[in-house]
Amino acid sequence: MTDISSHSPIHIIGGGLAGSEAAWQIASAGIPVILHEMRGVRGTDAHKTDGLAELVCSNSFRSDDATSNAVGVLHAEMRLAGSLIMSCADRNQVPAGGALAVDRDGFSDAVTQAIESHPLIAVVREEVSGLPPKEWDLAIIATGPLTAPSLASAIQAETGADALAFFDAIAPIIHTESIDMDVCWFQSRYDKVGPGGTGKDYINCPMDEAQYNAFVDALIAGDKTGFKEWEGTPYFDGCLPIEVMAERGRETLRHGPMKPMGLTNAHNPTVKAYAVVQLRQDNALGTLYNMVGFQTKLKYGAQAEVIRMIPGLENAEFARLGGLHRNTYINSPVLLDSSLTLKSRPGLRFAGQITGCEGYVESASIGLLAGRFAAAERKGRPLPLPPETTAFGSLLNHITGGHIVSDDEPGKRSFQPMNINFGLFPLLEPGAITKPEGVKRFRGKDKTVMKKQLVAARALEDCAAWLKAS
Ligand SMILES: Cc1cc2nc3c(=O)[nH]c(=O)nc-3n(C[C@H](O)[C@H](O)[C@H](O)COP(=O)(O)OP(=O)(O)OC[C@H]3O[C@@H](n4cnc5c(N)ncnc54)[C@H](O)[C@@H]3O)c2cc1C
Repeated sequence: MTDISSHSPIHIIGGGLAGSEAAWQIASAGIPVILHEMRGVRGTDAHKTDGLAELVCSNSFRSDDATSNAVGVLHAEMRLAGSLIMSCADRNQVPAGGALAVDRDGFSDAVTQAIESHPLIAVVREEVSGLPPKEWDLAIIATGPLTAPSLASAIQAETGADALAFFDAIAPIIHTESIDMDVCWFQSRYDKVGPGGTGKDYINCPMDEAQYNAFVDALIAGDKTGFKEWEGTPYFDGCLPIEVMAERGRETLRHGPMKPMGLTNAHNPTVKAYAVVQLRQDNALGTLYNMVGFQTKLKYGAQAEVIRMIPGLENAEFARLGGLHRNTYINSPVLLDSSLTLKSRPGLRFAGQITGCEGYVESASIGLLAGRFAAAERKGRPLPLPPETTAFGSLLNHITGGHIVSDDEPGKRSFQPMNINFGLFPLLEPGAITKPEGVKRFRGKDKTVMKKQLVAARALEDCAAWLKAS
């Protein structure tokens, strides 16, 4: 039996999806937790209740298919790890086809009840306005996208002005294998090698004049989302949505993110492109590329349609679409070590959306990992990292190191929040995808389905082994 009196508490700031899951994991390891949640004393612009783990918008945890959907795999791994968030979601499920949707009040009530009645967890309703004091030797900051301003300022003072973002300005991210390389080519502008480059670091999509004009027209006509009243209009230099640039003048994009200078079409070297869309490698695996300078507030349907007008991107599959939202998050790949600890402050971890993951399930899963890492540290037995082949490991790896930090555009941060998706998982061994016996036609679509199934099965097997060993 665990001797609970031998452990001093771990402090968690924020009782949202991540903080509640972290508290549960730590307490389940026999270690006391003090959970500081400000709602009840001070609200946020999006939360409406004082309940823990309130869902601020949709009531969906997205696909529950663990055989061929990345978020479904994450659900399954969390269930294997004894997740409180998943067990409360399962108990409060409402019909939603293949998705896991919940009764939001029932879900939040169940999490609140489980946390408040746990003998090892004390919930303190207060705003924490600075970094944890020294006496809190182990602490987790899980204050989410709407972190209170005083704490955000303290984080910024510790990490540096550029290290904390207050808005997502997300450009779409595309699965590399869906880009048509018979049309596009690899080249850096003016073949610049730069530090760590090869001179062929970007994927380039060429446009002629007619294609460019049709694209600009479609951008201007496309359906856009507005800002919420409390979000303001966060346009700042170097971060204008492409449709706003298009509205400012037909030539603006051609002199901005779509400039063709310094690029020669490898498939057609004698014809100069009128405009070029560039994509930059987004993860170390090279399975994802982001569209350079293409942050947008076009609605998702319109966005996918307009982007697929770009030569070479006709069949683009998106790991995530673009957007611009209020969101406080840190530059995790630079600031955090692989167990989510702030490099400059041993003992202080970050969890949830503030680390740069995106979504309810992802935030809770990073809370789960932060909780387990902190509990293991308290016990003096460091936890091995989850394998990168798991959903846990691939998401953690993206946040703490898998994303490529861009330094080719001074003053710009390239790390943007990300949902779990199969592009974050390592590739399968060559030859893993083979035509099943007895199947006559084995098309590209069938291969994609098989690939997802194999990656999902590998993830669950490796996750079970990791949990058993840790
Ligand atoms: C407007 C909006 C809509 C969204 N819609 C969706 C959606 O539909 N689907 C989806 O999957 N994701 C959505 N998200 C993202 C979603 O917020 C996150 O995925 C998830 O809630 C993040 O979990 P978290 O635990 O990191 O943060 P939260 O759940 O926000 O929890 C953070 C907690 O910290 C508390 N806190 C903040 N500062 C302090 C402080 N200084 N001291 C003490 N407590 C503090 C807050 O009160 C809050 O309870 C949305 C986000 C926003 C802002």
